[in-house]
Amino acid sequence: MSKELPRVDLHIHSIFSDGESTVADIARMVKVKKLDMAGLADHYSSGPGGERGRMGSNRLKRYLSEVQAASLLKGVEVDIYEDGDLSLDPSEKPLFDYVIAGVHKMAGIAFWGDPTPIPDPKGFVENMRVVIIEAMESKVIDVIAHLTWLPEDIRGMASSLITEDWVDSVVRTAASLGVAIEINGSWTVPDEQVVKKCLKEGVKLSMGSDAHRASDVGNIKYPLTLLSRLGAGLDDLYLPRKLQG
Ligand SMILES: [Zn+2]
Ligand SMILES: [Zn+2]
Repeated sequence: MSKELPRVDLHIHSIFSDGESTVADIARMVKVKKLDMAGLADHYSSGPGGERGRMGSNRLKRYLSEVQAASLLKGVEVDIYEDGDLSLDPSEKPLFDYVIAGVHKMAGIAFWGDPTPIPDPKGFVENMRVVIIEAMESKVIDVIAHLTWLPEDIRGMASSLITEDWVDSVVRTAASLGVAIEINGSWTVPDEQVVKKCLKEGVKLSMGSDAHRASDVGNIKYPLTLLSRLGAGLDDLYLPRKLQG
């Protein structure tokens, strides 16, 4: 049996993007939940700001200083666009302790709260695979968030749409480029088969709650349970810095 895994939450949103809680409230909850490591990962889009639910560069300095003052890690979550580009200017990467990237919208369809019908589910999911691989090849990102989460219309078909080949190519690319894959506590993705493959190929796994309010900080039951069941150890985890103590 592996030793007990540390409690890590690297995916937390604050009022700097679309979260409801302040950095100070989040920091308090990190202590209450006795997390071993925690980081903010607010949505970010390089540029002047004003994009809905995204922090712009006008607020970046303030974000970084508040997160640092709260002794939390300075992460960020960037968008993978449908051409494979990222919402982060590569020159800004060194400002952060780690960069998470996820697909949130494709072909004008949002991955949350948007029931728009998708006429070609196979093509949609194939395009997702391509852009996720392109994003990893940018060398700008450390972690892929909520890898197999799909828009509402095709979410129920995930197990048939996300084929073994799809998973193989993404996981092998992650392995060769040293990109980690997140296990998301809110959306409970990816599933056991994907995580098993990551462990087999030596891809590090990142734990994140994707909390949008302080009360959800440290909601990592899904990743902890799954990793423990699969016998994962400390070496299998993505950690942006060494654990203290
Ligand atoms: Zn996300
Ligand atoms: Zn998020």
